[in-house]
Amino acid sequence: METANPLAYLEQQLAEVREKGLFHYPRVLSGEQRARCVYDGREVVNLSSNNYLGLTDHPELKAAAVQAVERYGAGSGAVRPIAGTMEIHVELEMRLARFKRTEAALVFQSGFTANAGTVSCILGRGDVIVSDELNHASIIDGARLSRAEIKIFPHKDVAAARKLLAEAREEVQGRGGHILLITDGVFSMDGDIAPLPDLVAAAREYGAIMMVDDAHASGVLGDHGRGTVDHFGLHGQVHIQVGTLSKALGGLGGYVAGSRTLIDYLILRARPFLFSTSHPPAVTAVALKALELLEEDDTLVKRLWNNTRYFRDGLARLGYDVSTSQTPIIPVIVGEEKGAVQLSELLFEEGVFAQSVVYPTVPRGKARVRNIVTAGHTRADLDQALDAYARVGTKLGLIRP
Ligand SMILES: *Cc1c(COP(=O)(O)O)cnc(C)c1O
Repeated sequence: METANPLAYLEQQLAEVREKGLFHYPRVLSGEQRARCVYDGREVVNLSSNNYLGLTDHPELKAAAVQAVERYGAGSGAVRPIAGTMEIHVELEMRLARFKRTEAALVFQSGFTANAGTVSCILGRGDVIVSDELNHASIIDGARLSRAEIKIFPHKDVAAARKLLAEAREEVQGRGGHILLITDGVFSMDGDIAPLPDLVAAAREYGAIMMVDDAHASGVLGDHGRGTVDHFGLHGQVHIQVGTLSKALGGLGGYVAGSRTLIDYLILRARPFLFSTSHPPAVTAVALKALELLEEDDTLVKRLWNNTRYFRDGLARLGYDVSTSQTPIIPVIVGEEKGAVQLSELLFEEGVFAQSVVYPTVPRGKARVRNIVTAGHTRADLDQALDAYARVGTKLGLIRP
């Protein structure tokens, strides 16, 4: 007997999104990831990458990758605990621990698996996770996998977080449960910074584990890009720091930095560490080189922040509201989805690639075009982008001429 296509429901959902003009295939990059590059055949000023320090095409990183391939081969051949731990992996972890000023560090395949793998294995049924509503998807997935109870506080609302921590303490008392307070260090869609000192104080008061996801703060905030913990002078007070090697550091990977006890436990239990193959040597060599450059010299970090101020001030002068942003992530909030998509499309036609972000990545009514400034942008690049924002914004009635 002929049956209906069991995947037809997916087609229906796609059709709905397509009708609204909200379905897009990702734009395709020709050549290297750079501040100015070619997407979909058009040369654009690129305001969409997380390549904060412009390291993706750095000659020393590329040379390190090539050398690692020649010396150690193309792949690692196994998961870490079986036969896939190479000397170069261990070297990177020691380097990361030193950089983050922690006892130890552990590298994961990505920032995503670092978060999901850590949160899901250190907590379980009977525990409570207190989480900012704008935390990254990988934290949310890890929280769900852990089977702990999840309590969400309104974005950066420390008073609300405290209330939830108090509730959580009542609940876990008696059954010997644990509490995790978790926040992004820099929020990826708004570009604002977590109120980490107040959260750390709250965690201490309620006996909670404090964890920060520094994906967008790695290489960006703090001395030589050491992250939000360093930025706020909180060394030794945050139990778990997650960072990424995929954004500012120009390659791929994620890591957890913390106490020896924490790292040893992750080696024992974190599922992406146990069950997914380790990085090829070239990936690890790129991270090592990026870290070396960053430790030696913070010129790129300084250039990143100069560019950030220049571009944010430029947008504000044109009449855009960029008030939420405190970092190189500078969103222009449009509101409804179509407007944001249209702004991004018209900018692209003017040679500026700034991606629109809509529901479910951001709440409904908060659709936006997100700009990310990098150290690789020249003043000419940023001026070209500001000119395009002036023309397109006037045309769409977002700003007055
Ligand atoms: C990008 C990102 C991650 C994931 O990092 P990858 O290395 O790309 O997997 C985790 N958390 C936040 C806040 C991010 O923005």
